[in-house]
Amino acid sequence: MEDYPKNLTEFEDRFSTEEDCRDYLYQLRWPDGFCCSRCGHDRAWPVGTVLFQCARCSYQTSVISGTIFHGTHKPLTLWFRTIWWVTGQKNGASAMGLKRILGLGSYRTAWLWLHKLRRAMVTPGRDHLAGIIEVDESYIGGEKTGKRGRGAAGKSLVVIAAEVKDTRIGRIRLRRVPDASAKSLEEAVQQATSPGSMIRTDGWKGYCGLSSLDYTHVEIRNTAEVGVNLLPHCHRVAALLKRWLMGTHQGAVSHEHLDYYLDEFTFRFNRRTSRHRGKLFFRLLQNAVEVDPIIYKRMVKNIRGRKPLNHNM
Ligand SMILES: [Zn+2]
Repeated sequence: MEDYPKNLTEFEDRFSTEEDCRDYLYQLRWPDGFCCSRCGHDRAWPVGTVLFQCARCSYQTSVISGTIFHGTHKPLTLWFRTIWWVTGQKNGASAMGLKRILGLGSYRTAWLWLHKLRRAMVTPGRDHLAGIIEVDESYIGGEKTGKRGRGAAGKSLVVIAAEVKDTRIGRIRLRRVPDASAKSLEEAVQQATSPGSMIRTDGWKGYCGLSSLDYTHVEIRNTAEVGVNLLPHCHRVAALLKRWLMGTHQGAVSHEHLDYYLDEFTFRFNRRTSRHRGKLFFRLLQNAVEVDPIIYKRMVKNIRGRKPLNHNM
């Protein structure tokens, strides 16, 4: 089912009431019919307007329980309008913009909503990159240039993986890593790519072990003329990412929240050729009903220790 509004008029016609939004979320969450999140039973009775009660174990649930909308005090229509707006911002959405456009009460609410949505931009269990893939790291933030393998004060190291489609860039994955050690880099590559892929890197020693990990590792040696870009796809992605962080977010991205911005950038980049805004809206909502709820405190706490098993690179 890829059923989404094609333009603003269709959007407004379809999602003018809470019931419209709930019905749509129901279809996204249970496309094959109701499924109890406790016992897996497929039959339920409606209780009131919002709740469903499992016919077997009596567990009560709603379309938004366990999703990013869990516990929200705001109407779903406002959430839908936010998602429509966020997916329509070609260069990304800022909390200030969201607060202004939708009249959200506080900057904090706008900020929190955006971070929840960024989290939903990572498709749970999404496919790994495959084929020929360039991998490189880049330092984000800070003023001084960083030295490889040693880290640099005030900077975050981000691994960039980009599919090579001739001269075009296919899909990308981004992941912040603590350092450029073999352990960090190999882990990042494994989370982003399918075994059997061909991985192109430069001659950095941190990548040497890739060939023993079920990859064909091609080291692009730095013997070519000066100025030749060895990994052009990665360099292009790094430049676009930095420009985006500086432009849309005016460089005001703190390191502890960088992962969320990397998710947003990846989401937009991988769907940059998608012609329908409605399709991005659909994808984001589809992810939104699949992820766990996250509350502000946990969000801020968990940022440093994001679990790697979500393939959320
Ligand atoms: Zn049940």
